[in-house]
Amino acid sequence: SKRRGHGQVTLYSVDIAEEMKRATQLEQALRRAVIADEVDVLFQPIVDLRTGVPIGFEALARWYDDELGQVSPATFIPLAEERGIIVSLTDVLLKKAARAALSWPHDKYLSFNLSSVQLVDPATHGRIMAVIGEVGLEPARLGLEITETAVMADAAIANNIIDRLHAEGVSISLDDFGTGQSSLGRLREISLDKVKVDRAFVSEITRDRPSEHIVKAIIALCDGLDLEVIAEGIETVEQAAKLLQLGCVFGQGYLYGKPMPAGDVEDLIRASEHY
Ligand code: C2E
Ligand code: CA
Ligand code: CA
Ligand code: CA
Repeated sequence: SKRRGHGQVTLYSVDIAEEMKRATQLEQALRRAVIADEVDVLFQPIVDLRTGVPIGFEALARWYDDELGQVSPATFIPLAEERGIIVSLTDVLLKKAARAALSWPHDKYLSFNLSSVQLVDPATHGRIMAVIGEVGLEPARLGLEITETAVMADAAIANNIIDRLHAEGVSISLDDFGTGQSSLGRLREISLDKVKVDRAFVSEITRDRPSEHIVKAIIALCDGLDLEVIAEGIETVEQAAKLLQLGCVFGQGYLYGKPMPAGDVEDLIRASEHY
């Protein structure tokens, strides 16, 4: 009926208005949190699957707001990208993460997620080098995780930023490999060191033959291209055993450690020295 139709239209626009209001509230709260230095960083171990010993740690952003509660990075990172907050947020997060990494043994690296937006910004190289320079973290101890969407956005600028960071000794990982718009050809064009196999494949690897074959093919491809493979989202010993059997040597996931505060990282490193 006309009435119902009208009601639906109203409901629909109320939803959109609510959505926009919420995004704006989130944006304002996030801006305040960045200035007040309230966005935190946790670290998840990346381990040698043969020994369980951590070789590095991935920094993962965490934000708790008194009114909004815990907000997922899957929500606030895209918002920060859309609303022009990502550059200052990255500076704050990288500074915190690099400071923490300073107290780790020198053979443990820091892996940091770089937003796609920053891969089309020519100022990115300078900002990253300035932050780690100020903290005193050697470029060789920093790894940057990038995604294919970022690499695809503006290939020329992205390649240039990646090449320059790579030339400084920073290592580059392609994150979430196998999802999104994959372009295998791009693998040879960028100065890539590592490929991270997406959790979607790892979580099915012991249950689903196609997933096993896909992971096997990724490992073979990376072997041929001289790229290190890191499996994401390992939750069971069976998954770890299968990955090792397929020739994957590095991985991360809840089986080895959830994202943890810097203090726990130091405990874990100490404990792993006795493995
Ligand atoms: P990502 O880079 O793919 O990070 C892996 C996500 O999987 C993290 O979620 C991590 O907590 C989760 N994870 C790790 N191991 C397991 C596991 O065994 N099982 C399951 N179920 N999950 C696991 P998180 O921390 O919520 O981050 C979500 C995404 O937000 C990240 O995906 C990344 O794209 C983005 N992100 C997080 N921190 C940052 C940051 O500092 N900068 C940027 N640009 N993006 C970030
Ligand atoms: Ca990542
Ligand atoms: Ca990932
Ligand atoms: Ca992701």
